[in-house]
Amino acid sequence: MIDFVGAGPGAPDLITVRGMNLIKEADVIIYAGSLVNKEILNWSKKDCKIYDSSKMTLEETIAVMEKSEMEKLKTVRLHTGDPSIYGAVLEQMNALDELGIEYRYCPGVSSMFGAAAALKTEFTPAEVSQSVIITRAEGRTPVPQKESIRSFAAHNATMVIFLSAGLAEKVSQDLIDGGYDENTPAAIVYKATWPDEKIIYTTVKNLAESAKINGITKTALIIVGDFLKRKPARSKLYDPAFTHGFRRGVEK
Ligand code: SAH
Repeated sequence: MIDFVGAGPGAPDLITVRGMNLIKEADVIIYAGSLVNKEILNWSKKDCKIYDSSKMTLEETIAVMEKSEMEKLKTVRLHTGDPSIYGAVLEQMNALDELGIEYRYCPGVSSMFGAAAALKTEFTPAEVSQSVIITRAEGRTPVPQKESIRSFAAHNATMVIFLSAGLAEKVSQDLIDGGYDENTPAAIVYKATWPDEKIIYTTVKNLAESAKINGITKTALIIVGDFLKRKPARSKLYDPAFTHGFRRGVEK
């Protein structure tokens, strides 16, 4: 059995209890050394074999999984944040399917939620934005044309942009060309939930400059939208006059 596990955004205690228990039981761990906090590995058994996938190809990763499966060992494949977001897990799962090797999936706290915690805010405040667009800029990895940042920008919704801190200038231009006002608030959240976490409040127009001044080119999210104004907004859910399945509203 192979367990794909989300390690969380950085702080080691932001892994799930299930994820931690799987680490404790693992005989083999393959972890994404570029982003997973190594402190998480302290829970592993003394004789656990540990591999850093940032130095491995897909074929090498699968070969390790196949070997440990033949030896009936417990393998954890540890991914940063939640594996479903830019985790490159599907190609591993497809390879395991072909080999007839079973796997399970333990979710994790994505860095986008680590960033919301860092910002101490809500991505979806009432009457400001009720949608979150999760995307990335096109770099060396292509993005389907229909999903360009420029096209998504027309919605003016909350946008969380992964893998793009080094492309801030292009992101900024695409956001403006697509329809955000250039003064729309933006934040660059670097290493959310790590000890060296940094939040830079800026605007869509000044994104590139802010990234440059602070020397940020990776391990950061660009987050955009009017929700950052923290404008007072109230949800209907906790409004005294609003009736729902668990509470009867009282008209004033
Ligand atoms: N599966 C991960 C994302 C992997 S892609 C998740 O759910 O978070 C890697 C990108 O995630 C980085 O380029 C960066 O944009 C973002 N990222 C990962 N950890 C981060 C953190 N602690 N703070 C800010 N951004 C982070």
